[in-house]
Amino acid sequence: MRLLECSDLNMSYETVPALKDLSFFVDAGDYLCIIGENGSGKTTLLKGLLGLKEPDSGLIEYIGITKREVGYMPQQTTIQKDFPASVMEVVLSGCLNREGFRVFYGKKDRELAVKNLETLSISDLAGKSYMELSGGQQQRVLLARALCATQRLLILDEPTISLDPVATSAFYGVVKSLNRDRNITIIMVSHDVSAAVQNASKILHLETTPLFFGSVEDYVNTDVGKRMLGAG
Ligand code: ADP
Repeated sequence: MRLLECSDLNMSYETVPALKDLSFFVDAGDYLCIIGENGSGKTTLLKGLLGLKEPDSGLIEYIGITKREVGYMPQQTTIQKDFPASVMEVVLSGCLNREGFRVFYGKKDRELAVKNLETLSISDLAGKSYMELSGGQQQRVLLARALCATQRLLILDEPTISLDPVATSAFYGVVKSLNRDRNITIIMVSHDVSAAVQNASKILHLETTPLFFGSVEDYVNTDVGKRMLGAG
């Protein structure tokens, strides 16, 4: 089932193009990695997908899913790292997006937060202060938060950028199991091409224009894929 389709997308800042002639789609169950150098348009595309920036032309269509059902895990900034809240509060705040603006959490919200802490094996951290956690633990908390917003589609922006190699591979393992075992569709922006090829099912490689969109199996056999993986 198709969840999202972008057709002939063009996006720019003032008159400078950031994305040109981009078409791709996401089906339920996909694990799509969006890769590309700095400045290749990845963040601009996420802004478009999240409705934070209007395209100049072209279409972004959610099909069979609403924007409200999308869970978003933003890139972590230094300020967020020092956020003075408990883990439970951070995870619960993911519930707020689901039904429009609300001030109070209900019983269902709390149950969902507890369940998502369990899913990510961080129940023991619930009462801790978010800012005292390791980078890897903080990323799991943010992922649990995003899971409170969605059962279906997660968008992750460079989730492992500040993690050490062990925490990075553990994080990729968690995302992969959410995709495989819970059938949650994943869209992840990543710098890490080899991890993308190992974990994802599809690749979108951007360089303002799309260099490649398709399956990982096809990508590794293209010239650009071989070059990125150091085999060409
Ligand atoms: P990436 O996420 O792949 O690093 P971006 O989408 O952030 O790439 O940037 C794509 C292009 O748009 C770059 O040339 C960048 O300089 C430009 N750009 C990004 N954000 C802005 C902005 N707020 N104002 C002007 N230009 C921008």
